[in-house]
Amino acid sequence: MFDSYSGYRLVSHLAIYLTLCLVVGLLLGEVVWILLLGSFCLLLWHYRQLSRLNFWLWHDRRLTPPNGRGSWEGVFNGIYRLQGKNRKRVSQLAFLLGRFRQGAEALPDAAVVLDSEHNILWCNKLAQLLLGFVWPQDNGQRIDNLIRHPDFSAYLKSNEYNEPLELPSPQSEGHILEIRIMGYGAGQLLLIARDITRVRQLEGMRKEFVANVSHELKTPLTVLQGYLEMMQSMAEPDSPNLRAMEQMQQQTTRMRSMVEQLLALSRIEDASDVNLEIKVSMAQMMDILRDEALALAQDQYEVTFYCEPGLDVYGNELQLRSVCSNLISNAIRYTEPGGKIEVSWRKIASGGLFSVKDNGEGIAPQHIGRLTERFYRVDSARSRQSGGTGLGLAITKHALNHHQSELNIASQLGKGSTFSFVISSNLIDYNP
Ligand code: ADP
Repeated sequence: MFDSYSGYRLVSHLAIYLTLCLVVGLLLGEVVWILLLGSFCLLLWHYRQLSRLNFWLWHDRRLTPPNGRGSWEGVFNGIYRLQGKNRKRVSQLAFLLGRFRQGAEALPDAAVVLDSEHNILWCNKLAQLLLGFVWPQDNGQRIDNLIRHPDFSAYLKSNEYNEPLELPSPQSEGHILEIRIMGYGAGQLLLIARDITRVRQLEGMRKEFVANVSHELKTPLTVLQGYLEMMQSMAEPDSPNLRAMEQMQQQTTRMRSMVEQLLALSRIEDASDVNLEIKVSMAQMMDILRDEALALAQDQYEVTFYCEPGLDVYGNELQLRSVCSNLISNAIRYTEPGGKIEVSWRKIASGGLFSVKDNGEGIAPQHIGRLTERFYRVDSARSRQSGGTGLGLAITKHALNHHQSELNIASQLGKGSTFSFVISSNLIDYNP
């Protein structure tokens, strides 16, 4: 156990030393000279200790300190203790760092640690493979100097990393990477990249399959329906087959509308590059929608329309029409006759708001989040009966995505629902 610092001992040693000097001075009759000599010797001794300490700190390879004497013993031991503590902390940190790196190496994704200036601090082996980094040569390089893609640079600068970014792989042609960035430590960032080529291929195959099947089903269904119509028109009015034929006709009509909706969905999903520069006259569209709604409502509903004059949208007319007419036809179909439907298109601060409000059956909260999934229906029997396919809101969601918008649903069971979306100001042309 090393001696620790004691102020009391220090003062008492000094007092004893000076008293000794004083006694010797009195004995020799030279008090002042002896005291001066004693102080000089003390100073020399301290300088000697100081130079030993200096030598040990800067030149000596030994870990243990030299044997200090007097007050210097505490100083030597104190420094030695501090060094020991630091060595322990460094080895603990090195251990933790080693474990982190082992963990990051075991990840199935490429991982890169960046500082706040986007310089690379560390990357795992998969990052070297997927992103083509060379380690340790690329240590400290700016990442956007190594991944040269305008989308990536914009994503990095945006500081908004909620959504992942998809990029063509810089290493292998035809491969797609999904990049995610998240905050990590003090001002640092962790970039995770994964190869999603296979997932995208499978998604493409699924879409192609659905589109092909729907397309192939269309012709046989048209033929079937044609023959059914012919047989119905030729059947005697009291024929027992007439009811069966009516049912067959209803079912083929349902199948046809489902096939058409599936085709519409694949077309909208595929149309990733919707031209958002064509102006769509909303006043004209609202006129058409009103006619359609009144035909569907057959005087059994109170339908009101409001259209803000001079408020137009830049986008795809067919897609926007399909969105609005889906929402209106749903409002009518899921509201009992006698109900009230309010359709409006108006200017708001952030752009244009389209909303369809009904006082129909409403939707329980647990269903609301899932309504835009394909084939999701709250009550399948009711939907089938009303001619629904469960695809309308899925189509709506995709079409709104293409117009930088999303569907908002507010509903209360038994009281009614409001389906709305906002088209942002950059896609709006407003001349009141
Ligand atoms: P569907 O062809 O069955 O109407 P949608 O995708 O258009 O399919 O709608 C999905 C489900 O959302 C519907 O089956 C229905 O249960 C519910 N829904 C949609 N609009 C309304 C509405 N205005 N009021 C109540 N329920 C609705």
